Amino acid sequence: MKKLYFITGSQDLYGEETLARAAEDSKEMAAYLNEKLRSVSEVVFQPVVRNSAEALGVCTEASADPDCVGVIMWMHTFSPAKMWIGALKALSKPMLHLHTQYNKRLPYGSIDMDFMNLNQSAHGDREFGFICTRLGIKREVVSGYYKHDDVIEKIRRFAQAASAVDFGRGMRVAMFGSNMRDVAVTDGDRVESEIKYGWNVNYYGIGDLCDIISGLTDGEIDGKMSEYSEKYVINTENAAAVREQAKYEAAIERFIERENISAFTDTFQDLHGLNQLPGLAVQNIMAKGFGFAPEGDYKTAALTAVLCKMAEGRSGATGFLEDYTYDLPQNEEIELASHMLEVSPVFAADKPKIEVHPLGIGGKSDPARLVFDGITGEGIAVSMVDMGDRFRLVCAEITLVKQPQPMPELPVARVMWKLKPDFAVGAAAWIYAGGAHHAVVSTALTVEDIRLFAKMTGTELVVIDEKTELNAFEQQLDMLDALAKLRR
Ligand code: MN
Repeated sequence: MKKLYFITGSQDLYGEETLARAAEDSKEMAAYLNEKLRSVSEVVFQPVVRNSAEALGVCTEASADPDCVGVIMWMHTFSPAKMWIGALKALSKPMLHLHTQYNKRLPYGSIDMDFMNLNQSAHGDREFGFICTRLGIKREVVSGYYKHDDVIEKIRRFAQAASAVDFGRGMRVAMFGSNMRDVAVTDGDRVESEIKYGWNVNYYGIGDLCDIISGLTDGEIDGKMSEYSEKYVINTENAAAVREQAKYEAAIERFIERENISAFTDTFQDLHGLNQLPGLAVQNIMAKGFGFAPEGDYKTAALTAVLCKMAEGRSGATGFLEDYTYDLPQNEEIELASHMLEVSPVFAADKPKIEVHPLGIGGKSDPARLVFDGITGEGIAVSMVDMGDRFRLVCAEITLVKQPQPMPELPVARVMWKLKPDFAVGAAAWIYAGGAHHAVVSTALTVEDIRLFAKMTGTELVVIDEKTELNAFEQQLDMLDALAKLRR
């Protein structure tokens, strides 16, 4: 289980009695938070920090502890902030500054100077906040009584985002083939991705997969076939085509296991040795939380894996989707998102059907794929693009809607949504921001989760929501470009 360190600040000046009380109080608070958050992270009490040596000690320990995904900081008393400078410079884990109190209410009848000396986070947290701001430390400040549900929820969100960032560090991403020829937005700086996010992205030949396929046993393939018939409706006579996908999936699973892979890409331009484009195979794997994006789009594949990690334990769906085509009745515009084949069945409104149809691109045999209509509800679409000198996240709020009419001739899974604040503004803003036609869509996560991820990783974020206005949005983009130039 991953951990959050609960670090309480104080100082030597207060004497043993007050410091002992501070320790007792914060131990109780850490235990309470641990109880509430245990499904996402263990909250570990740390001895109250009294001086710069102890501050440096605990921050160095947090930074070095592979199980620690972040720290919760709280100043029970005043804690002169110069003692935190060295510690904060050494801290490499995300920080949540919890601005709270041990006591919920003021004891009006009995309050005296002893109480005031012990309970002064209103004062101590401001001193601590100043030095964080002065040092330029990105952190999440959560204010409120620590037992209140909204405060607990904000800490939970932080813990999940921090766990996802931690998961990304050292995550291995496989590209079967390279980026689709001539495509710009799916390409990117893989070295920079590793420097910034820890994503280790590497190329593999599709032949590596073919080698595994040739060594599969009938039993392995039969096992995959029975998994398919349990999970899906078989809506084809072409069992051979389905079996072909079963082989691909069994082989990809072996490969993922062997190479410790969390996300992968392929491309229809490089399928030497495969008879079909992997469709059903990839769809079934995506539903297990592995990242995938087609056409060598390693950024979307990696981001999908990271966001699936962030959404663990929540209801809702998370996966790759591509902007495809529109229905444009005025003021009722709807987008249809899909892909050639690879739409994750987590988006299915009903039990998906396995079908076999021609692909019409790539010159291969007719591939088996899952076909279904999409779920409905509030969600987000997130795109990561490489601006040359930085990565940018574009996050749009969307409303997934029921398709207005059946589409019996469409041989792929589809999801439909409406843009915010409306089609005209939402689509234009996405395009001004350089957002890709590939995105991670989630009904489990919100803009707040992406904002935390962006903050923890120092990634530029632009949000498109109900409040977006194009003039201000374009100005924001101009300012972000100017800022990036200044930072160069
Ligand atoms: Mn695509």
